[in-house]
Amino acid sequence: MRVLPLLLLAAACSKAPSYDLVLAGGRVMDPASGLDSVRNIGITGGQIAAISADPLAGTTVVDVSGHVVAPGFIDLHAHGQTEGDMELQAQDGVTTALEMEVGVYPVAPWYQSREGKSPINFGATVSHIASRFYAFHGVEIGHWLVNREKTAALIGPMPAGANEPASEAQIEKMGGAIRQGLSEGALGVGFGINYVPAASGAEIEQMFAIAAERKVPVFVHTRAFGIAPIREAITTARKTGAALHVVHLGSSSGSDAPAALALIDSAKAAGQDLTTEVYPYTAASTALESALFNPGWQSNLKIDYGDLAWAATGERLTKATFDKYRKEGGWVIIYMMKDEFVDQVIGHPGVMIASDGVPFVNGTGHPRGAGSFARVLGHYSRERKVLGLMDALSRMTILPARRLETAAPAMAKKGRLAVGADADITVFNPETVIDRATFQQPTQPSAGIPHVLVGGAFVVRDGQLVKGAMPGKPIRTGAVPTAQ
Ligand SMILES: [Zn+2]
Repeated sequence: MRVLPLLLLAAACSKAPSYDLVLAGGRVMDPASGLDSVRNIGITGGQIAAISADPLAGTTVVDVSGHVVAPGFIDLHAHGQTEGDMELQAQDGVTTALEMEVGVYPVAPWYQSREGKSPINFGATVSHIASRFYAFHGVEIGHWLVNREKTAALIGPMPAGANEPASEAQIEKMGGAIRQGLSEGALGVGFGINYVPAASGAEIEQMFAIAAERKVPVFVHTRAFGIAPIREAITTARKTGAALHVVHLGSSSGSDAPAALALIDSAKAAGQDLTTEVYPYTAASTALESALFNPGWQSNLKIDYGDLAWAATGERLTKATFDKYRKEGGWVIIYMMKDEFVDQVIGHPGVMIASDGVPFVNGTGHPRGAGSFARVLGHYSRERKVLGLMDALSRMTILPARRLETAAPAMAKKGRLAVGADADITVFNPETVIDRATFQQPTQPSAGIPHVLVGGAFVVRDGQLVKGAMPGKPIRTGAVPTAQ
């Protein structure tokens, strides 16, 4: 008799819970709890419903044996907030990409413009740069790094908003714009002081004070490169009580990296709420027409014309081509860092990984927008052993989640694999994960990341982008967004 046992088995199974989706047999690595074991993960309603050593039943069961199952990566520094940029980030394992450095103003219309159009979760700070342009020129530019051409058309290539000190009335108006943005759910206040070099220390202090009063962090690209402006930001944050995140420490500190890391560690040890991040490349990138290249840039960046490459063609610049392209506007690659210092920053405990990915234009740009996370896992962790795998994962999952979760409770359900957490999950092969984006071909997607889930929905499946999948949700301060 074979029928009876089968019937009994069917009856037993029907009593066991069944999940929408089961990721079966993967090496589950969760830096928040330290779990590193083969487990099955059951997902229902966009959340993790079970993590079990026993087999789980599901409507869909995907065998992920031989792979690491990790919390989806959280990128705190993602300028490329377009669908194409986010697709490349998804293929790099990123499930939440936030524009925290430059930010946006106004805030509400920007969030609205991204609703339903984003494969991964999105969000932004309110922008000091855009609020300053608003205070000086009365223009609402939204996301400056995406709308640079529109901004230049409205206020000119060398706007007063970047290059002139603000009056008390303008500082008042700027502060009002920042308060408004925070009331609309912005995740903090974003500063690119280097891009508005006329902003005084007193102006920055007043804006930090608003962030402190509203209990949100400030994300800061410092006034210039090297240790002194990093110290200035730390001092201003301590004075105002603002929680501070220093962006791209690799480029901002340059050869002062060891001193900058020591300074940050000592400020943290003294009780300051202070974090930092790095992208895993030795070249930087930004807009050539920006105030970062105002006269004096060679000594500020400690480089010359030949260290700049025009992103659209790859050609190295001369004084003549620098002048020509600066008038036209566009992206440059800046060869300015040394391996030994980037290694030190990446290897330093507690430094988060963030891409600083800038929008790709016709397939050109900096590869960091497509390859940062796989590059840390494959190149820096596996090949060069600059940091361990669990440590690397912690810097792209739980650490960025914790940076934001006081201000944005939605982040308390991200960056970890636990029952009740959002099913933002990245599945990768630890033996093969690697970046493929290069300075020559910057939009090549990363390899070795077969599955990426956002809120339980595949955005990458079997190594292929799921075209048209838009499960990304807005991340704001305030209450956890309700599931749809
Ligand atoms: Zn920056």
